[in-house]
Amino acid sequence: MAANIIDGKVIADRIKEDIKKRTLQLKQKSGIVPGLTVILVGDDPASQIYVRNKERGCASVGMNSNIIRYDSSISEEQLLDKIHELNNDHNVHGILVQLPLPNHIDSQIVLNAIDPKKDVDGFHPINVGKLVIGEETLEPCTAKGIMKLIEETDIQIEGKHAVVIGRSNIVGKPVSFMLLNKNATVTMCHSKTRKLKDIANKADILIVAVGNPEFIDGSYIKEGAVVIDVGTSRVGNRLYGDVNFDEAINKAGWITPVPGGVGPMTITMLLENTLYCAKSHE
Ligand code: NAP
Repeated sequence: MAANIIDGKVIADRIKEDIKKRTLQLKQKSGIVPGLTVILVGDDPASQIYVRNKERGCASVGMNSNIIRYDSSISEEQLLDKIHELNNDHNVHGILVQLPLPNHIDSQIVLNAIDPKKDVDGFHPINVGKLVIGEETLEPCTAKGIMKLIEETDIQIEGKHAVVIGRSNIVGKPVSFMLLNKNATVTMCHSKTRKLKDIANKADILIVAVGNPEFIDGSYIKEGAVVIDVGTSRVGNRLYGDVNFDEAINKAGWITPVPGGVGPMTITMLLENTLYCAKSHE
């Protein structure tokens, strides 16, 4: 039987409606309008699109957004000064520095300078640490979105074997800890993992975040598994996931498409995090 498709667009739209309502309630009750400030350095075309989408996302739920653009020649010190100013500005609830930054700027130093309470990306070491020890905190948006998609299947996470392929700080590691915190048994895989197919074949929940078009074919997937395809690789005009959807759909129980799976959830979780930060000012 063909897998159920987890429609990230429909789920994201539903969550956004709820965020819009809660944003309005916050405004009516406390006069606070959640505000996200995004810092964009340089003119990378993909980053420009991501930032525009974040701006539109904020507008769609009634939040304020402010995009601060800098030429790629800006120094690390100037950028840090701006972040300190934003940390102290009460009207700025969330701060996001769009990555990648130019090579002469140390991204980790910049991310570490953001006030952890305004860290809507959830990348600050304090927030990462809280996530690891299972405390409530601001969580990285894509990983948080993946968890919401899994929860939509109504499959109980506790006791399941989850395999995460990819160990990046923005997706693979945080989602592994979130699954662990929900009592899954988690196996993390990466480029040096041996017998990847044997491990993937044991996964009740398989999350693939690699960036290699369709490299997970049907033979990697356990019958009935939940498959979350995080990969997005543009080849020509087409966007490919890491999973061969046409093969996987005949093995999996649940599967996310690309596009229209994880992608729409990432921005939605950014809005959720911005609202969370703003509510702490109530
Ligand atoms: P990344 O930082 O490039 O990490 C890729 C990971 O894949 C690394 O851990 C790497 O292992 C592992 N890997 C590479 N080749 C492998 C192989 N043959 N077998 C097993 N593991 C392998 O990537 P990322 O930032 O996590 O992004 C991954 C993908 O998700 C990309 O396509 C990206 O565009 C997409 N993405 C989508 C969204 C969204 O909102 N839809 C958000 C974020 C990312 P090593 O650590 O050993 O190098």
